[in-house]
Amino acid sequence: MAFEFVIFDLDNTLYPRGSGVMEEIGHRIQVWICDQLDLGWEEATELRYRYLRRHGTTMGGLMTEHNVDIDHYLTFVHDIPIEDYLEPNLALADMLAGIPLRKAVYTNATSEHGRRVLEALDVADHFERIIGIREVGLCNKFNREAYERMLALLDVGGEACIMVEDSPRNLPPAKALGMTTILIDHDEGERFIDVPEHCIDYAVDSVQEVGKVIEGSLKDDKNGP
Ligand SMILES: [Mg+2]
Repeated sequence: MAFEFVIFDLDNTLYPRGSGVMEEIGHRIQVWICDQLDLGWEEATELRYRYLRRHGTTMGGLMTEHNVDIDHYLTFVHDIPIEDYLEPNLALADMLAGIPLRKAVYTNATSEHGRRVLEALDVADHFERIIGIREVGLCNKFNREAYERMLALLDVGGEACIMVEDSPRNLPPAKALGMTTILIDHDEGERFIDVPEHCIDYAVDSVQEVGKVIEGSLKDDKNGP
């Protein structure tokens, strides 16, 4: 099966962890929870960790265990001045241009946030599609179903896809659907969740190395097993 698509996660994948974007979104998630669920700061922190483990994201827990306005949540938490944190990344644009496959972004955030991030990095033109949480029916990457919906939207089978992700726990569902996986920044990943080794085909320190890995995979692909 030849590769057709490279599917990139967005946050902490296309830009480095520590850029401040996710810290700011995390802060706004805390503020929203304190406000809407009437909790103290510490309680909100505990709730987020609990939901992250149990439901994959804070939002997954909010949807399952509370009756809240998820649209309001999504709009509020992503309402950040993205240009304060990210700037055009020419090296990333060059790397993407060098990958001879179709490219999409698939994120647990909204596609509007995805669009703003890609524009801030000045790489939007390299992606033919941004699939966010609303496009897959608010189902997060914790669930295989979310990946199935994403693949259906791209009209491609899992075996033809390479998935690039910074969260190890998002890789097992991708692997189960036949995708080849590249883990970014694995040392800093969510270590509290064990991920079977076979779910990680390649591990690299930064997204910049993805081009080389894919070049190698394409050669292997051509030579056959
Ligand atoms: Mg991510």
